[in-house]
Amino acid sequence: MTLTADRTEPAVTPSLAELDAHDISAWFGDHKVLDRVSLTMPAGQVSALIGPSGCGKSTFLRILNRMHELVPSASLAGEVQLDGVDIYDPSRKLIDARRQIGMVFQKPNPFPAMSIYENVIAGLKLTGMRKSRDEKDALVEECLTKGGLWKEVKDRLRAPGGGLSGGQQQRLCIARSLAVKPRVLLMDEPCSALDPTSTRVIEETMLELVNDVTIVIVTHNMQQAQRVSQKCAFFLASHGTPGVIVEHGDTEAMFGDPQDPRTFDYVNGRF
Ligand code: ADP
Ligand code: MG
Repeated sequence: MTLTADRTEPAVTPSLAELDAHDISAWFGDHKVLDRVSLTMPAGQVSALIGPSGCGKSTFLRILNRMHELVPSASLAGEVQLDGVDIYDPSRKLIDARRQIGMVFQKPNPFPAMSIYENVIAGLKLTGMRKSRDEKDALVEECLTKGGLWKEVKDRLRAPGGGLSGGQQQRLCIARSLAVKPRVLLMDEPCSALDPTSTRVIEETMLELVNDVTIVIVTHNMQQAQRVSQKCAFFLASHGTPGVIVEHGDTEAMFGDPQDPRTFDYVNGRF
């Protein structure tokens, strides 16, 4: 099977949500790390964020689900909207934003001593979702299937999550994110710590998942960005200036016909 992102317009189902960042600036103390970044991440598509280390991609991703607020020195200007609703609206609960916008990190971080089964449903308690035993069983199967892991683990759901391979642990983390029914999944270099085969499996998983959740992925792998994403944004912070988006648009155009010479150099490995 050739692995490529579906370039046709998505059939947008009601649960799929668009994420919009408007004029985002961010600081750690006095250090400004993002300057007026705006980006629309369309419903039911994969948006890839690319750019050199230190240009604010992870910071931007964390701002998209309010994880930025966990750093005491961090401050922020601008707006993030999920389907037109401000996720920073003070009258809305933080946990609500986090439930709707899940995150998967570079290093797989399942709870190692907890069983595979318990790992998948670990987020339910946090978000106050109550389920019967049968509902939990069904949810675990559904999420592990969507995460591309069910067949490999269905006979050992009570084994500890820490016993899985790195690639399997990452898919377990994806399954865990899915259990609270997020509308967006943020993925910060999810394959950087994985071997090529596991990377491929995760990419295939993403291409299936995007029918259910909007995906934003940070990647340093230019082939991966081209394989999985429909939209792409190139971040850059030159000579100590805060990160900006130099160019964004359809992935095919960004790689095939970049408009800015800096994008051309970056996507062609000349950085
Ligand atoms: P990227 O993901 O593109 O490599 P980051 O968002 O991690 O970039 O970092 C952007 C800038 O913000 C860097 O200069 C980094 O040192 C700084 N930074 C990131 N996280 C923190 C933090 N928790 N406290 C202080 N500075 C930070
Ligand atoms: Mg980063």
